[in-house]
Amino acid sequence: MPRTLIVSNRLPTKAQRTEAGVSFTPSEGGLATGLGSIYKANDGQWIGWPGLYLDSEAEEAQVTEELRADSMTPVFLTETEIKEFYEGFSNETLWPTFHYFAQYAVYDQQYWESYVAVNEKFCRAVLAVAHPDDTIWVHDYQLLLLPQLLRKALPEASIGFFLHIPFPSQEILRVLPWRTQLLEGMLGADLIGFHTFGYMRHFLSSVHQLLGFANQNGLIDAGSRSVQVDAFPMGIDYDKYAQLATTPETKAVLETYRQALQTPHVILSIDRLDYTKGIAERLRAFELLLKRYPELCEQVCLLMVVVPSRDQVEKYKELKEEIDELVGRINGTYRTLTWNPIQYFYRSFSLEELSAMYCVADVALVTPMRDGMNLVAKEFVASQTQQRGVLILSERAGAARELSDALIINPTDTSQLADTMREALAMPEEEQIQRMSAMQELVQRYNVHHWVQLFMDRLQYIKLKQQTLATFELDEAARSALVQGYGQAGKRLLFLDYDGTLVGFNRAPQRARPDQELLQLLTDLAADERNRVVVISGRDRQTLAQWLGHLPIDLICEHGAWLRPRGEEWTTIQPLNSLWKREIRPLLELHVDRTAGAFIEEKEFSLAWHYRRVDADLGELRSRELSNHLHFLASNTDLQVLEGNKVVEVKNAGVHKGAATARWVDTYPADFILALGDDRTDEDIFRALPDSAYTIKVGQTVRSLARYHVTDWQAVRVLLRELADSAAGQ
Ligand code: UDP
Repeated sequence: MPRTLIVSNRLPTKAQRTEAGVSFTPSEGGLATGLGSIYKANDGQWIGWPGLYLDSEAEEAQVTEELRADSMTPVFLTETEIKEFYEGFSNETLWPTFHYFAQYAVYDQQYWESYVAVNEKFCRAVLAVAHPDDTIWVHDYQLLLLPQLLRKALPEASIGFFLHIPFPSQEILRVLPWRTQLLEGMLGADLIGFHTFGYMRHFLSSVHQLLGFANQNGLIDAGSRSVQVDAFPMGIDYDKYAQLATTPETKAVLETYRQALQTPHVILSIDRLDYTKGIAERLRAFELLLKRYPELCEQVCLLMVVVPSRDQVEKYKELKEEIDELVGRINGTYRTLTWNPIQYFYRSFSLEELSAMYCVADVALVTPMRDGMNLVAKEFVASQTQQRGVLILSERAGAARELSDALIINPTDTSQLADTMREALAMPEEEQIQRMSAMQELVQRYNVHHWVQLFMDRLQYIKLKQQTLATFELDEAARSALVQGYGQAGKRLLFLDYDGTLVGFNRAPQRARPDQELLQLLTDLAADERNRVVVISGRDRQTLAQWLGHLPIDLICEHGAWLRPRGEEWTTIQPLNSLWKREIRPLLELHVDRTAGAFIEEKEFSLAWHYRRVDADLGELRSRELSNHLHFLASNTDLQVLEGNKVVEVKNAGVHKGAATARWVDTYPADFILALGDDRTDEDIFRALPDSAYTIKVGQTVRSLARYHVTDWQAVRVLLRELADSAAGQ
């Protein structure tokens, strides 16, 4: 039974040593909830550090056993490893670099070596529990090397990777001395996910620039393997936050907050202590708000929660001091006997308390300098059961790519931020409701369960696609089997594409005339009365007739629109059936599911997928991907795919090489079939042929529906010459 193994630096539970022994506290985070359902199913496992340094072997055995009972496998790390691998390389090298704070990054060879060693340790832990057909999903920046380490040990495994933080522009990434190893590490996965299209684009260009691997619609051709890269914006457990907001516990806390705060307006800010969160800038903007709009004094308060984090690291200590100082200064300057402008807490809160804070707030201020996604923004939205409240959101948070109904700001523009706070406080209720309900719809639909499902489905799909598109080299054994099969056959059909297959690809199409060698080769093949030689091409029939019309071979032109069996006249085929909508619609719906803002339009003779309301770059990507899929499917159903302005349309029309191939196979039965082709339209030929046919892809890429591949058109000529000569000698 296939299982899912989740691997992340931390387990979704925290082990702590108490006087009574080790105790375990489960995480309430969205990721733990979202993934909870899949790793526990079918005996899966979550593998990671339980947050405890071991005291003794007995403790190791006890912790391991207790976690095992809860489907978790611990990886124990030492204090030195946590210092060098986690606090060091992960948090002082990768974290600042990936968040565009490269000036804070530390480059320490010892940290790097520890990072490599701990990734290897994780690899051993995974291999100790993995079965061959398990799906392994690796999470986040602490384990960038793990996918490749796993790939080496398990070449066929399904491996997914998701990065929860931003991926920087390749100009920033290049600064890291270990950039190549990090990229190669990630490429061990079959599917690599990011929160936004922007991060994905940065990754693709880094791979292109630094490793030289190009991609098509996010599918990286990494030599012998292909790796899919895609955007999966992570969601939250929407129902949990929506329900929490209405429980009696939360309402009781809310009431005490209301009474204590007293001001008519509350602005909320919740973050972990981190320089990426823009906390100091936010305080300066609040100060400016009070200065610029003194009428707001005693009318508004800033409820600010800073959750302690990484406070052993120097940069975080400095930040904490800066925040303390700013809060002191602002409160000292503006406070009155009955009003404190900033209610500042440096600690964490319970879920009910957080929920009450989300509910009491009129405005949420989420203004990070850089943030992979930012879940606080989504939690605030889910908690507004009355659809009131305004979200001010930084353009540099991943969430801004989805929550376009928030007031989007530039977090470094203090003046804009102060004015936006005032605008938010004065926003008419009607507008608040309209914006909030639009955001709620989105956060509810694209929730964490949807995110998990989408990623897992996509990984499964990619794996299947890899398998169907894997081709083998036409090596000596395959070649001699082919020649033997050819020799023994009584009737043979040879489908030969023209450009790129029989002749080299020429930029000026009219220059790709057949040379004498080719004409002789085709003549020799056609001379054998057991052969039917079919040149099947996208070219127009005039050209092909002029170049090859004098030979006793069959010609199929314009991708199958024009047919000329040898010795006969040119004919054209009629459009085929139109029972295709049922088959195509689910694919369009899948792309609506995956793409916020997309929609389907049905016309009498067509289906259209519109993306004019989708984030521009993501829309372009998804539309290209969709039309690729459609082109693929279209061959069976005789469809035409048109890419219009912000729309992809599927129509019942057109002809293709697959239909013509099928017709030939029916009309001229053969016991040996060979097909050679180099481009996308030739995939239709391969698909239309029975499994017994020898299908051969010509070119460098190994992805094809064909069974075999050869390098180029010269190799094709050598093969065909061998066939012609082998039969002649018999
Ligand atoms: N949070 C918490 N306790 C608190 C304050 C916040 O558990 O006292 C949670 C909050 O609900 C959110 C998470 O911490 O789910 C912060 O996630 P986010 O993506 O906003 O930022 P990160 O800390 O991951 O950079």
